[in-house]
Amino acid sequence: CGIIGVLGDHEVAPILVEALKRLEYRGYDSAGIATVQDGVLDRRRAVGKLVNLSDLLVHEPLAGKAGIGHTRWATHGAPTLTNTHPHRAGRVAVVHNGIIENYRELRAELAKCGIAHRTETDTETVALMAQHMIDQGATPQDAAHQTIAKLEGAYALCFLFEGEADMLIAARKGSPLAIGHGDGEMYVGSDAIALAPLTDRITYLEEGDSAVITRKSLTIRDAHGDPVDRDMRTIRIAN
Ligand code: GLU
Repeated sequence: CGIIGVLGDHEVAPILVEALKRLEYRGYDSAGIATVQDGVLDRRRAVGKLVNLSDLLVHEPLAGKAGIGHTRWATHGAPTLTNTHPHRAGRVAVVHNGIIENYRELRAELAKCGIAHRTETDTETVALMAQHMIDQGATPQDAAHQTIAKLEGAYALCFLFEGEADMLIAARKGSPLAIGHGDGEMYVGSDAIALAPLTDRITYLEEGDSAVITRKSLTIRDAHGDPVDRDMRTIRIAN
């Protein structure tokens, strides 16, 4: 229900949790974060209130300067730990708001290739599909784009990849997504409110857009895959 992504200059776990707190107003049943540290992708997740995730992070900290986070409002699968985002398959971690309408077809397609799901969510299908494409030789970036092209429904997505500490891939269709510009840092958020303590410089993705984000660059493509310019605006939000 809420998405955050950070390519930071500092440790991101506390920044991710803080941003998720600002998205609590949307409601949620579980929460999680994933980071890349020394190339290694790892995640922490907890059912219930965000304090459960913060408590877990005290005992099992998560280092890294690149990360994604999520507060979930379950639509497909019960609010269990297994179903909590970020979802992971191999090198791919993904957070998702909304519903992938054709996830059953995509599940069946993956099953034919011998790829099994471990969760009941529509979101795990996205991670498995992207990893499947990586297994077939695609770069993480191409795998994300090819996966997004297969999706029907309403979604905001943010991908993070093992071995890629300077790249997030974001996409939206039917759910809003904002990109925040910091000083040597870049952010992704469900809304500008989540990003308010981090930056007031926001680029909103438009319907069907996908973005490749690094600390120094933002490349946006429209629904046809053509590069597009989207304005950066300065947003005023009372803290
Ligand atoms: N459909 C996804 C799930 O049930 C995402 C729900 C959300 O927007 O939080 O896990």
